[in-house]
Amino acid sequence: MRSSSAKRRAETAVKAVEASFDAAVLGAGLAGSSLAGALAGKGWRTLLLDRQTFPRHKVCGEFLSPEAQSTLQALGLYETVAALKPCLIPQTRMVFDGGAELGLELPGTAWGLSRYELDGALHRAAGQAGAVLETGTAVTAIYPGADGYIIEAKRSGKPVRYRARTVIAAWGANAGPGLPGFRPQPRGRRAYLGVKSHFRGLEIEPAVEMYFFRGGYLGLCPVGDGTVNAAALLEQGAFAKGSRSVTAYLEEAAGRNPKLALRLAGAVPVEGTQAAVAPVRLAVRPRTWDTVPLLGDAAAMIAPLCGGGMSMALRSSALCAPLADRYLQGDIDIAGWEREYAHAVRSEFDGPLRLGGMLQGLLGMPAAAGLAKAAAMLAPGLAQGLVRATRLKPFRT
Ligand SMILES: Cc1cc2nc3c(=O)[nH]c(=O)nc-3n(C[C@H](O)[C@H](O)[C@H](O)COP(=O)(O)OP(=O)(O)OC[C@H]3O[C@@H](n4cnc5c(N)ncnc54)[C@H](O)[C@@H]3O)c2cc1C
Repeated sequence: MRSSSAKRRAETAVKAVEASFDAAVLGAGLAGSSLAGALAGKGWRTLLLDRQTFPRHKVCGEFLSPEAQSTLQALGLYETVAALKPCLIPQTRMVFDGGAELGLELPGTAWGLSRYELDGALHRAAGQAGAVLETGTAVTAIYPGADGYIIEAKRSGKPVRYRARTVIAAWGANAGPGLPGFRPQPRGRRAYLGVKSHFRGLEIEPAVEMYFFRGGYLGLCPVGDGTVNAAALLEQGAFAKGSRSVTAYLEEAAGRNPKLALRLAGAVPVEGTQAAVAPVRLAVRPRTWDTVPLLGDAAAMIAPLCGGGMSMALRSSALCAPLADRYLQGDIDIAGWEREYAHAVRSEFDGPLRLGGMLQGLLGMPAAAGLAKAAAMLAPGLAQGLVRATRLKPFRT
């Protein structure tokens, strides 16, 4: 039951609504843009909102795991992304802080490509399909209105409002308090910081290199044009506090793994590509609905060391798009959509999320981490199996 003040607010908002849509997708990362493109492609009037302006550099390892390609096919985006000429990555190399190394074949060929390019390509595809993209527009509230929802947002400090029959939240893991999908940092849970920078002057094999050290790990991934992306997940309590540059964090991380220090010695950070995000909230169970459907990191963020977050974001979109379409056509009701989406996501994501959480936890405990490294060195077949088990299965229609 809505309070009378909420009702009054909704009625006032309706009078000031800027535009009406069938679907409003909140957040124009990979999950949001791919869903907006899919719905617009079905002929629905689709709005895609993001608080940031684009293109932008984003904290991400920029390693698109092999199974993402089948999801891109299902979303009709394979050619769009392949046209960016991603680096082909068939293997991973892990370098532990004691210097031990382990090379593993990936279960397929992954792609290395910059989020600056990738997100832009998905925006263009969504626009070509007919979606309306509004950037620099931060959503501040959603509430039920006549025949759907009212969305309140701010653009250049000014309030704007939209009406949509349905709303889908794809705004990453850090939805603000009061917004669907908001997750407070659980007490006692480790808090993480993510940082990234592109580098030049770094020779790299077609492989993703993972360096582990006390308090975190860092991945190096070739992203084309002689550029290598470095992204690190750092435990906040294990690194010096205070306002520091991304480069300073990367230097401190390199100081904890001699082989990483050697690797980055001659590398030059590319100006303007640095980004940081905190807190990074990892999930071991997906949450698919909170008043509205949740997609991508808003539903669940897997430990970055699995390199599967982008793949899951795209997969959640591919799972949600046909249900949203059926809902808009009147073929299913909202309860059916919620049930079917939750079932589809849980059956695909539960296993990788659980395993990702376990691996992330192991790395945080020095004794267990030592054992895990030893086991991986002694039984590369087991490690290979683990890498495979953190992956989604190829997309099936
Ligand atoms: C250190 C690190 C390394 C990683 N490395 C990898 C990797 O190598 N491979 C991989 O697959 N994954 C990796 N990930 C995870 C990956 O980046 C995410 O899983 C992926 O970006 C999720 O996509 P998304 O579309 O759900 O969210 P995002 O890409 O985060 O997009 C969400 C969008 O919502 C917008 N938004 C937020 N709030 C609002 C609001 N109120 N109003 C309007 N817009 C809003 C944001 O501006 C943002 O553009 C890594 C993550 C970290 C932290």
